[in-house]
Amino acid sequence: MGLALVHGRARAGIRAPAVQVEVHLGGGLPSMSIVGLPEAAVREAKDRVRAAIQCAQFEFPARRITVNLAPADLPKGGGRFDLPIALGILAASGQVPRDALRDWEFIGELGLTGELRPVDGVLPAALAVAGSGRRLVVPMANGAEAALSSDVEVRTARTLLEVCALLTGNRELPQATAPAQRAVHGVDMRDVRGQAQARRALEIAAAGGHHLLLIGPPGCGKTLLASRLPGLLPEASEAEALETAAVLSVSGRGLDPACWRTRPFRSPHHTASAVALVGGGGEPRPGEISLAHHGVLFLDELPEWDRRALEVLREPLESGVVTISRAARQSEFPARFQLVAAMNPCPCGWAGDVSGRCRCSSDAIRRYRARISGPLLDRIDLHIDVPRLPPAALRPDAPEGEPSAAIRARVEAARAIQHARGGTLNARLDQGATMRACRLQPRDQALLERAIDALHLSARSMHRILRVARTIADLDNSETIATAHLTEALGYRGVGAVDAGPAC
Ligand SMILES: [Zn+2]
Repeated sequence: MGLALVHGRARAGIRAPAVQVEVHLGGGLPSMSIVGLPEAAVREAKDRVRAAIQCAQFEFPARRITVNLAPADLPKGGGRFDLPIALGILAASGQVPRDALRDWEFIGELGLTGELRPVDGVLPAALAVAGSGRRLVVPMANGAEAALSSDVEVRTARTLLEVCALLTGNRELPQATAPAQRAVHGVDMRDVRGQAQARRALEIAAAGGHHLLLIGPPGCGKTLLASRLPGLLPEASEAEALETAAVLSVSGRGLDPACWRTRPFRSPHHTASAVALVGGGGEPRPGEISLAHHGVLFLDELPEWDRRALEVLREPLESGVVTISRAARQSEFPARFQLVAAMNPCPCGWAGDVSGRCRCSSDAIRRYRARISGPLLDRIDLHIDVPRLPPAALRPDAPEGEPSAAIRARVEAARAIQHARGGTLNARLDQGATMRACRLQPRDQALLERAIDALHLSARSMHRILRVARTIADLDNSETIATAHLTEALGYRGVGAVDAGPAC
C-alpha cells in the first residue's frame, strides 16, 4: 500500500496549526502533484524534494505521486513542508519505516543536495507541538529557537539523510538546547539629568501602562527618555516573552534566542509605510506595533507620520490585537504595546522656549498640531512638555539621575496593588471597572467636571484622567484618590489636547 502520513505545521499569524501531509503512490504515468491549496512556494517544493531525495542516494519512485496537505482550507506558504513531503514519499515507497513517523513532527526546507535549511515561525510550531504529545525535528539552524519552548523534545538535523537515519533507528539526532541568556546592558535613567516632570511621567506611564506624549524642542532628550521606558517595566513573564519572541519568529527578521527575554523597544521612522507599521503583505507579516508587543513603540515626529498610518493605530491601542485582511485570508497578530509619541511644539520646534526663537504664527502652530487626529491624541493618557535643559544641567559634574532599578521597584509595587484590586493594569480598566476603582470625593468630582468643561474633553478623556489619577494614588500607596492625585493627573491633559484639531 503506497500511502504515508507525516505531521507538519502551517503558519497563521503567530499560531502554528497542525497539517497532515498525506502521500499516495498510485499506478499510471510518473508524475507528482500537490493538492490542498498550495501556494507558489509549495509547488516549487516538488523540484527541491525530487533533487534532495536523489542526492541522498534514495530512489525517487517512478509512480504517480499525490501529496495532500490537509486541512485544505488552511493557507500554506514557505518551504517548511519540504521535509515532511520528502519523508512521506520515502515512507510510502518503503524506503523508511512508516510507523516511525507517528510520534514525530517535521519542519524544514530542503536544498537541492538534501541539506536542511532554516525556516521562520519555528518557535510557534514548537509551542504548538508541545500540546500534541509528539516530538519535533527541525533544521540545525532553527534548534536554539525551537528549544525556547521548554515543554517539547526538539531534535536537530543537518540533512535529509540524518532524519532518515533517525527513522530507521540507525542514529540518534542531537537534542536542541536553548542558549544561555546574554546580559543586555540597557540604557538607564541614571543618564537622564534634570527633567523632573518627564521622569515622573515615565514612572506613572510604567506603573499604570499608560500611553505617553512628549512635547518639546529638538534635542531636549525625548528619544533619550522614551528609550528608557522598557527598563522601568517589570521583567516580562515567560509567557509574555514567548509571545513577543513568537512575533519576531514569524516576522522574517530573525529571532535572537540569546536575548528573547528582553522587552522590545521599537522606533520606526516616520517615513515607514502603513504596512511596515501595522503589518500586512501577501503572506501577512507582523508590523512594528506587533514587534513591540509587551514592550514600547516609540513614534518620534508624530505630526510627520502619514495620517492614514496613524489612524490604523486606534483599534490596536484599545484592543491589543491587530487583524490583517488580505483577500481570502485573515491574520491576527498581538499588539499590546505601550505607545510613547514625541513631537515638537510647533513647526520650527521652539515655541515656548525661553530663548524666544520661535517665529511661527499661531495659525501655523494650530495647523501643525491638527495633523494629529483628535481621537488618537485622546487615547494617549499623559501629555507632557519636555523643556530644553539649561546648559548647567548638562555639565559633566551635574548630579546623576535616580537609577532605573530604584524606579522599577516602585513601579512593581504599584502594579501589584493594581493586580490585587482589578486583575489588570489601570490603563486597561474598562468603563465600569474605572467607575468602581476610581471614586472621587464630591469636591474632587466637581473639580474634574469643571476641568472637562474648560478643556472641552470627551467622556473617554475623563475616564483616562481617572485612571491616571488612580495610578498616581497607587504609586503613593493610597487607597483613595486624593485631590493632589487628581490635580496631577489633570496636569497631564492640559497640553496638546486643547489644540488637537477637529475630531475625525
Ligand atoms: Zn516655532
